[in-house]
Amino acid sequence: MRKIVSFLILISSLFFLSTTCPPEPAEKKTPKNIIIFVGDGMGFNHIDVASIYLHGDTGKFVFQGKNWSRFAQATYPAMLKVGNQPEWAQGYNPHAAWNEKGYLEKDHTDSGAGGTTLSTGLKTYRGSIGMGIYGDTLLHLSQYAKQLGKAAGVVSSVQFTHATPASFTTHNLHRNNYAQIAQSMILKSQLDVIMGAGNPDYDNSGEPLAQDYKYVGGKELWNQLRTKPNSTTFLIKKERFNVGDINGDGVPDPWTFISDSANFAALSAGINIPKRVLGLPRVHSTLQQGRSGSLQTEPFKQPRVSGVPTLEQMTLGALNVLNQNEKGFFLMVEGGAIDWASHDNHSGRMIEEMDDFVSSIEAAVKWIEKNSNWDETLIIITADHETGMLWGPADGNNLLTPIVNKGKGILPGLQWHSIDHTNSLVPLFLRGKGSDMISIFLDEFDPVRGPFVQNAEVANLAFLLWGRF
Ligand SMILES: [Zn+2]
Repeated sequence: MRKIVSFLILISSLFFLSTTCPPEPAEKKTPKNIIIFVGDGMGFNHIDVASIYLHGDTGKFVFQGKNWSRFAQATYPAMLKVGNQPEWAQGYNPHAAWNEKGYLEKDHTDSGAGGTTLSTGLKTYRGSIGMGIYGDTLLHLSQYAKQLGKAAGVVSSVQFTHATPASFTTHNLHRNNYAQIAQSMILKSQLDVIMGAGNPDYDNSGEPLAQDYKYVGGKELWNQLRTKPNSTTFLIKKERFNVGDINGDGVPDPWTFISDSANFAALSAGINIPKRVLGLPRVHSTLQQGRSGSLQTEPFKQPRVSGVPTLEQMTLGALNVLNQNEKGFFLMVEGGAIDWASHDNHSGRMIEEMDDFVSSIEAAVKWIEKNSNWDETLIIITADHETGMLWGPADGNNLLTPIVNKGKGILPGLQWHSIDHTNSLVPLFLRGKGSDMISIFLDEFDPVRGPFVQNAEVANLAFLLWGRF
């Protein structure tokens, strides 16, 4: 009898196997376009504070709605320091994170390591720009996109040579080598779009003022960029450099340099789209966050810098340029000054920066629904690390309390516990083609945040979907 029963089970399971659909091959999950939004320093509570202030409750942003997958991500680096006295990082221990006081403030990453890992799929050392712990050069998603014949670009609300955009596009032993990074991005990369602050002719309020030229690769390169708009050759210390060839035809492709806000507006509206764009708004280190004025806690009280585009306009402009490539594109958009406002523990400016960042995501979502669709484009939204250890008001010894909602337009009850980065898990949102494949990487669990992936796995998902294992 037992034999008959097991035979019947075998037969029925064979029948089940033969009648259920085989799993979809991975190549059918390949997105044409991948867009990664990086909120620099954006933790779970940054999102809650902004959503409460702007909409009166948590969970109100477009990427918190249905059709989106929501998880957490661990940001820790491989190493805190390389060199003669190397220091390894401790990793992330979910139990310790929620039970050991001070645990989250130790061994955090920085934007160099964080960005490099989100871009290359390998954890590395703090300060790295596209380099591994042995000084090896890592392959960026943006470079891989170019290998596939796609377009690639980066957009940031801070200097385009700052750690995040640099760590998605180039290679340098240290993030502070701004001039080398700028020269590499402008002269050697095959990028189709670079947009960000760093304009050395203006201050942080958009007033003309001569500044440090390092963020744009030195005065010599800057003067040539401004005065020779369609040049393919640049001279630096008498050495001749040809700019990159973006479409593989063996001919260098000149940058179209823009800085006027009218040009950014036209680009975002889809008017006169050039082949390749280097866009530096007329402001020095950041679009809005560094503007002058007494530091008020409330957001939106001080006039914004006029004459500079929003991050939303830059995002749309970049999408319009990149979308000219019929094979698709890779784009990274950074809300870079969320981190800076959080280092300052400045709640008002942090909310403003979150607003700009979320607006650029919302605009990209609308752009996809008009110019592409969810069956060919994947959006990933995440952070490189949390900054400021932002929580609700402390309750005795308990610092990890929820943000207190006081209504729309009223600063929520909150407390900053650090002026530095933390090792907290950060949010991860996905939507579009291939987003369900993240499930492969959901092998770790946090008691509060639930299933989480490693930062490296965000890049590895993208590489996997694009056929590189
Ligand atoms: Zn930071």
